[in-house]
Amino acid sequence: PDIIQADYLASAVRQDQYPAIDWPEIAFVGRSNVGKSSLINSLCRRNGLARTSGTPGKTQTLNFYRALVRLNPEDDRRELCLVDLPGYGYARAGQASKKQWGKFIEEYLKKSTRLKLVFQLIDIRHPPMDSDIASYSWLVAHGLPVQIVATKADKLSRSQMQKHLSQICDSLGAAPADIIAHSSLSGAGKAELLKLVIEVAKE
Ligand code: GDP
Repeated sequence: PDIIQADYLASAVRQDQYPAIDWPEIAFVGRSNVGKSSLINSLCRRNGLARTSGTPGKTQTLNFYRALVRLNPEDDRRELCLVDLPGYGYARAGQASKKQWGKFIEEYLKKSTRLKLVFQLIDIRHPPMDSDIASYSWLVAHGLPVQIVATKADKLSRSQMQKHLSQICDSLGAAPADIIAHSSLSGAGKAELLKLVIEVAKE
């Protein structure tokens, strides 16, 4: 099973701009620069699909991508939608635009009836920040299934990694099973994450 094709679908800030599709959805949330675009590109094996840049805070829209999944050797296929949400907590963005990001992100998360899973990304090098903790608590309080992804795992040694993973779990009040370490450079953790994506595609 794998994602065999992926394309950009649409960008939106309001509900009437969401693409008119009824595939299951997976949303990606996290601070600006945490590695969201890189994760989406890595899962889809398409480098230019989601925008990546060293300049955080650039993506201010919900971006929808279509992913075509092959479920088995018999070539059964399913479509699903990957939704890249604007990065939160970028200090240099103006206060007004920060508030607005929050509002339309929450609107999407509350109103989408097809949202099956949220990947919350946390940079493995640093303890979760207040905005990460607030976001995770909000998602859990709203009954959304959350998978935490610790990004940039290649930046740490194996022993540091374990320490940081348990620190992230402690800060968020999550269980070790709720977190997967990923590197878009080495591909570590990708198979595990793809497995979750495939499960959602089957729904
Ligand atoms: P976004 O703002 O969350 O979409 O983050 P990007 O995907 O644009 O990544 C931000 C920066 O982190 C870029 O310079 C990426 O090259 C870098 N980056 C992302 N993922 C990884 C990773 O797994 N390992 C390393 N070493 N760098 C990464």
